[in-house]
Amino acid sequence: MLDRKLILENPDAVRENCERRGVPCDIDRIIELDAKRLEKLQLSQELNRQANECSKQIPAAKDNDERQQLIARGRELREQKDAAQSEHDELEAEIVALQTLIPNMTHPDVPTGGEDDATELCFGATAKPSFDFQPLDHLELNEKHDLFDFEAGARVAGAGFYFLRNAAVRLDLALQQFAISFLADKGFTPVSTPDLALTSVLHGTGFNPRGPETQIYSIENTELNLVATAEITLGGMMAGQTMTAEELPLKLCGLSHCFRTEAGAAGRASKGLYRVHQFTKVEMFAFTTPEQSDAVHEEMRGLECEIFDALEVPYRVIDTASGDLGGPAYRKYDLEAWMPGRGDGGDWGEVTSTSNCTDYQARRLNVRFKKAGEKGTHFVHTLNGTAVATGRAMIAVLENHQRADGTINVPTVLRPWMGTDVIG
Ligand code: AMP
Repeated sequence: MLDRKLILENPDAVRENCERRGVPCDIDRIIELDAKRLEKLQLSQELNRQANECSKQIPAAKDNDERQQLIARGRELREQKDAAQSEHDELEAEIVALQTLIPNMTHPDVPTGGEDDATELCFGATAKPSFDFQPLDHLELNEKHDLFDFEAGARVAGAGFYFLRNAAVRLDLALQQFAISFLADKGFTPVSTPDLALTSVLHGTGFNPRGPETQIYSIENTELNLVATAEITLGGMMAGQTMTAEELPLKLCGLSHCFRTEAGAAGRASKGLYRVHQFTKVEMFAFTTPEQSDAVHEEMRGLECEIFDALEVPYRVIDTASGDLGGPAYRKYDLEAWMPGRGDGGDWGEVTSTSNCTDYQARRLNVRFKKAGEKGTHFVHTLNGTAVATGRAMIAVLENHQRADGTINVPTVLRPWMGTDVIG
């Protein structure tokens, strides 16, 4: 959630930012409601003061009549105070509802525009493969190696679910093991997270359950939802907590299943494992001071690059444009892997994404830190980044490492976890 002070004191900058990100917002209404809220707050404080004054006069009343009058007046003042307070609370709720629709501010270097306006920042160490045979896509490779069963998945849970089989199970686990040990070596604490989270935690991290077009599966008659990413649980983990500046940056890597309805995704290129309702992901998450967050964002981007370089998968990194950032992100880098079976003759497909959410999530989750020798507290910054989302990472590994004889070379870093050098 964006800082209310920032909205009230810099309405033009916030309005301009919303326009740049293509998000409709009603800043004037927030300003108007906040002025009314302040009036009600002052009124309720004044009525409270008068009611207390009245109570103080009771012991000094000269007779019972005056006592009764003072008691009645005090009751009346308290009732008026309560009414003003509840009008204040209603206005506050209305402001918060509008405030949560306003996206984070945007890093000055972020390109303006939509999906096609992202800036290409760099390419990975591995060149695109030049096959001297007709490469297969991961579904054709599946026919050779019996790796996934979408039909059984559909029978059990509906379209978009699947079973992994044989080498795909081991590849899925190998990718998780590799990513977790890689990140643990880089100072990230491995965490296995709950796959369900409370609605309040989803709201705190900027996810919208139970609305139209929601990406979230919710459990009926409960406050629980299946998580779309461990970003939700890792952020929620510190809700309401105050850390010391010395504890920051706190870097975690969380392992979770991810569940997504993919509402509104119909028609987008989504063959096989590319856009499914459930996948497994190792997610980086960090709590930092405001001064640390840009550097930790660059670090996460670098780690994503190292992981895909180690997997010997060609990729490019893009700086996502303003209209494609999502509410909480101040800046977002996507890593797109080359997928030889995607589109007509191969295409880039997003495999990781890392965002600096500054204090946007922390404000709603109320995660703070304290500097030594200072009385007050400050909101932390939060960052997240995909280390490996196994579904799409498997597409990239299988399609880039296929060989003329139909077998698939296992990238060196995965071999200890896979127990084999080759699939097939
Ligand atoms: P996000 O949390 O939306 O930034 O996604 C992080 C990563 O998860 C993406 O870069 C993809 O690798 C993967 N991913 C997201 N949605 C899906 C999906 N529906 N099916 C498979 N993988 C997905």
